[in-house]
Amino acid sequence: MSTIVGIDLGTTNSLVAYIKGDRPEIIPNEQGKRLTPSVVALDKTGKLHVGETAKNQLIAMPERTIAEVKRLMGTSRKIRIADREYTPQEVSGFILRKLKDDAERTLGHKIEEAVITVPAYFTDAQRQATKDAGELAGFKVERILNEPTAAALAYGLDHLDKEQYILVYDLGGGTFDVSVLEMFEGVLDVKASAGNNALGGSDFDRRIVDFLVKQFERDHGIDLSRDIRAMARMKGAAEQAKHEISTLDTTSILLPFLATAGAGPLSLECEFSREQFELLVDDLIRSTLEPIEKALHDAKLAPEQIHEVVLVGGSSRIPLVQRILVEKFGKEPKRGVNPDEAIALGAAVQAGIKAGAGSFGSKGGEDARGIMITDVCPYTLGVEVVATSGFQKMSGMFSAIIQRNSTIPVSRTETYSTTADGQSHVDIKVYQGESRLVKNNTFIDQYTIDGIPQGGAGSERINVTFTYDVNGILQVRTKVLSTGKEATLTIERSAERMSEAERKVARDRVEKEWTLRLPPPSAPMAPMSATGSGPGAGAAEGGVKAIVASAERRAKELTGEPRAKLEDLILQLKRAVARGEAMDIVRLDEELTNFLFELG
Ligand code: AMP
Repeated sequence: MSTIVGIDLGTTNSLVAYIKGDRPEIIPNEQGKRLTPSVVALDKTGKLHVGETAKNQLIAMPERTIAEVKRLMGTSRKIRIADREYTPQEVSGFILRKLKDDAERTLGHKIEEAVITVPAYFTDAQRQATKDAGELAGFKVERILNEPTAAALAYGLDHLDKEQYILVYDLGGGTFDVSVLEMFEGVLDVKASAGNNALGGSDFDRRIVDFLVKQFERDHGIDLSRDIRAMARMKGAAEQAKHEISTLDTTSILLPFLATAGAGPLSLECEFSREQFELLVDDLIRSTLEPIEKALHDAKLAPEQIHEVVLVGGSSRIPLVQRILVEKFGKEPKRGVNPDEAIALGAAVQAGIKAGAGSFGSKGGEDARGIMITDVCPYTLGVEVVATSGFQKMSGMFSAIIQRNSTIPVSRTETYSTTADGQSHVDIKVYQGESRLVKNNTFIDQYTIDGIPQGGAGSERINVTFTYDVNGILQVRTKVLSTGKEATLTIERSAERMSEAERKVARDRVEKEWTLRLPPPSAPMAPMSATGSGPGAGAAEGGVKAIVASAERRAKELTGEPRAKLEDLILQLKRAVARGEAMDIVRLDEELTNFLFELG
């Protein structure tokens, strides 16, 4: 039996898991860590870094580093890293390629298939892009699974014997999802999902950074918002402070040498309390109540009917999140499953079901039984129509074909008529959303049916069938009833999707850059020669240069031991920059900065 892995491709971190025996287990990465930062970087020699080492160079070389690519999935945005351009799929492909490598090393054999999770509220284009990313990494993507559904699977595994309604509250680094499920006899039935594709921990970090920028400007009259390196340092400090005040009442933020002014180097130093943080993000966190209400409404349940609220995602550790949930549901939310790991573990359970690994969580004997899950389409899907009322025609109206929260897979057909005399073609414009006007909904794709026999308005009828599969991917079929002419459109022609040829090129590129990432030190094989002057590299290295220049000036004023130590640090840092050793640059930069700070 081949192993299929389950992957949580997160905004901030990614994880890979598999079924060992009858339990899901996280596979640690090369560094022995369970979470792999979703960060990709190119160092000065053009070598690819994914995960921890990439995250480490985020501050020293932000232009050579990309984080939070998940936020760009499904868009046609190009991502520039040093002098190369990538699609969001390729960057995610690198992250998945690393997870594949880590899994293969740990399990000792090739892994070809994966279940990859996405936020339930991801659109069709975002799902397709995720599937493409998996394929670029060399996986056959067995299934695209909704994150809260995966988390419910992990939770359900240990509660198979209970009959209950659960609400999964999943607040991660960049997305928020909520799902309401009914559990009975090992069946997990998703009743409704809702969410916000663009809300998560990095929005909270940004609020803290804005606060720090304002404070610095007030204290020193310097606007740091265009200083990439200072911003990257503040973001790092903001995230760390945010984590600390999830357990402490207050913490301090200290960033030595954040800027230089006439009088010399300036540092940022402030106390930061939980109370301040809560004021900064109150509206964002409370905005999660709206999707909760929507999901409860669609599931036809009142808050009192929810037996358990299950917390998922790193940001669900924030005490304010837990407080608003207690207010809403009148009970403490549950954090039985590690919120960082629940999704990957659930994805592994789904992978196990796919691979036919038998029943999970079974205790043997009469108790033995499997786990089964159903899911829903979280948004309404339909087409643009012209509505007629009397003599008035109104275009831009949305006609729903699949209602939101229909159990999937689902197939529905609606019949439409031509609206003008002599009409020979019809444009099928597909949208998702809840508004009656298409302009308020999300456009998905369009195509034209032609060759319709011309007649009077309303003389021809056309069936439009939407099929939404278990991966959340839509197929549209049309049939002109009088001629029987049919057409099929899988939503994959949108600008963001790649052609088969482009896909092959991208796949080769991901594999090539991945295998070239560790050239032997004596024989650099990196495709880019080590000139280290990629566009954009300048600004961050400029930051290091500024520190070096300031340190050199300071050294001239010193004598004895401090001078020798400072000069040594300067030399080491220069060497690390020349070699392009990101990890060393970060470490030495920090050491030098701290030493300068100590010297005063
Ligand atoms: P995920 O996408 O589930 O890995 O969640 C990552 C997000 O959770 C990031 O924005 C983290 O900063 C955030 N996070 C992790 N731990 C904590 C914590 N203790 N307190 C607040 N936020 C956290």
